[in-house]
Amino acid sequence: MNDSARATAIASLIAAVVRPEVRALSAYAVAHAQGMIKLDAMENPYPLPAAVAARLAGALSRVPINRYPDGAGENARRSLRRALAIPEAHGLLLGNGSDELIQLIASTLARPGATLLIPEPSFVMYRASALNAGLRVAGVALKPDFSLDIQAMLEAIERERPALTFLAYPNNPTGNLFAETEVERILRAAPGLVVVDEAYHAFAEASFLPRIEEFPNLLVLRTLSKVGMAGIRLGYAVAAPEWIAELNKLRAPYNVNALTQAAAGALLADTGWIAEQAAAIRAERARLEAAIERLPGVRVYPTRTNFVLARIGNAGGIFEGLLAKRILVKNLDGWHPLLAGCLRITVGTPEENDILLAALAELTAQ
Ligand code: PMP
Repeated sequence: MNDSARATAIASLIAAVVRPEVRALSAYAVAHAQGMIKLDAMENPYPLPAAVAARLAGALSRVPINRYPDGAGENARRSLRRALAIPEAHGLLLGNGSDELIQLIASTLARPGATLLIPEPSFVMYRASALNAGLRVAGVALKPDFSLDIQAMLEAIERERPALTFLAYPNNPTGNLFAETEVERILRAAPGLVVVDEAYHAFAEASFLPRIEEFPNLLVLRTLSKVGMAGIRLGYAVAAPEWIAELNKLRAPYNVNALTQAAAGALLADTGWIAEQAAAIRAERARLEAAIERLPGVRVYPTRTNFVLARIGNAGGIFEGLLAKRILVKNLDGWHPLLAGCLRITVGTPEENDILLAALAELTAQ
């Protein structure tokens, strides 16, 4: 078979067997960031403190990688419980990033005809996981100030009876924290599971974790990704043990690899460094917000995360101008009507933020 006949054969096979909704998708784009100031993916910009790095190296060198990992992740879960004060009475499930857990939750609840309720714009993987699992999606637009449209959410709950609701608390990509009382109203009204996704909790200083016992339908999702450990891919879900038991049935047996499990133990043996870095990021965030707000024609939205959402007249041009200066941010223009002209800028180190601010000052003055 020549090359073109082979390509034709593959294309017709794909058209015949790949799900049409998958063919219509494009893969989650991860930008190339080699040599760039990377302010696009909500990573913590600080390296590990030397003592923590040394502890990590020791722990990783002892991992018996000829063996499968501990399927239940016992030691890693114990470390998480101790470090984050998660009571023994709550169920705790580990994932290969919280992305995997989002998918797992969607798959577990995807009975035929089941619906996922989400405010929008929100984290894009919610919609993607619903598509993957075969859930219907009911999207409810946020208000223009990015707060929940609670009336519309409650009406959608009545109308759609969602099996699952995802609320990012605080929300990505808008950065704001939804009103606690409104999240409570959704928890009380929803007939299914409500996932409160606290990926940014270290920067929000607000959490529903202490309220798991109060709401039988509450699952709190967290991740180590935003607090300096994105590379190990470790997310976790906390909920009543009965929920965790159901989710566990669909989990791949060794979903969290042995190196990540060992790393979690070493990295969480003390959490002082995590709190210190998060505090430094919050301080820089305040500086960045104030400085970006002063730029001509720019509006900054209140943020409780490690990023700043800015509405800028010519977002595409500014994004390209930053790229030319080797600074990578996220251009949200075109993602959702409410995000027209918006850039999402992750808080970097003080030096990186200075370079960003100088570049923005130059580009917005043009
Ligand atoms: N939830 C939210 C709200 C996020 O913004 C992200 C990352 N962008 C995730 C979950 C996924 O994080 P991870 O898979 O790295 O744990």
